[in-house]
Amino acid sequence: MFIIKGLSKTYPGGVTALEEINLEILEPQVVMIIGSSGAGKSTLIRCINRLIEPTTGSVQLNEVEITTLGKTGLRKARRRMGMIFQEYNLVDRLTVMENVLSGRLGYVSFLQAYRRKYSPEDISAAYELLDRVGLTENCNSRADALSGGQRQRVGIARALMQHPDLLLVDEPTASLDPKTSRQIMRLIVELASERGTPALINIHDVALARSFADRIIGLARGRVAFDGTAAEVSDQVLTEIYGEEDWSATIKKDGSDASDDENLLSKIEKESSAG
Ligand code: ADP
Repeated sequence: MFIIKGLSKTYPGGVTALEEINLEILEPQVVMIIGSSGAGKSTLIRCINRLIEPTTGSVQLNEVEITTLGKTGLRKARRRMGMIFQEYNLVDRLTVMENVLSGRLGYVSFLQAYRRKYSPEDISAAYELLDRVGLTENCNSRADALSGGQRQRVGIARALMQHPDLLLVDEPTASLDPKTSRQIMRLIVELASERGTPALINIHDVALARSFADRIIGLARGRVAFDGTAAEVSDQVLTEIYGEEDWSATIKKDGSDASDDENLLSKIEKESSAG
């Protein structure tokens, strides 16, 4: 159970990035946040785990009020929130396995973390996750030897090592090509639903959001301008969120079956490799 009430953020320079955000996620669902650049998407995700301090309002995760926690309480609460970043945030010189195990750092003692001593249970959970994200063969590779898509798979496995109650995901596909973006988004959505973990995902790609979201929140100028299903995202809704534009191509593309997109992508790939 995740409830945000009256959340606002005004940055020290005076920019109000969020104004009175109210949002409830009462079941394990994938919620995608769309909105123009500067709408407040990133600020919202970061106010939830207090990487950015909200100015006012309340954030509750399973009855724990996050906004008033002290340092120790916040450290504990952050374990319950797995975060997946746009730029992956891996430690390049560590192996894939070490990066995934670092998801346990919030749970082990400082000394264990320093010596990188993890329990056999943690190690076998990490192997399982690496298998699930398709990286078994790469477990001993250094993180900086991987492609962008593989790096994000490590980021996903690391976040899930925390056994989070909520996944916070900030533009996970912004640095990836369209095909890899779909694969990564599908993986996040599948894993969130397999584990019954609600996910809040910032995304600038409306088509991708419509393909994979259980629910879409549209932010505009720091306020919730839309809250509904993918099917309810009409051109009028997109105009409210992004401003006046011809949305027919976006709506049409979004309305197509996901597998059609993939067929098209594999066709383009075949044609480009043949040519
Ligand atoms: P989005 O993720 O939707 O692009 P952001 O949350 O990054 O939006 O930004 C929302 C607003 O807050 C923007 O006007 C942005 O310029 C401003 N902003 C973001 N970070 C800071 C900061 N550290 N200091 C001042 N203003 C900021």
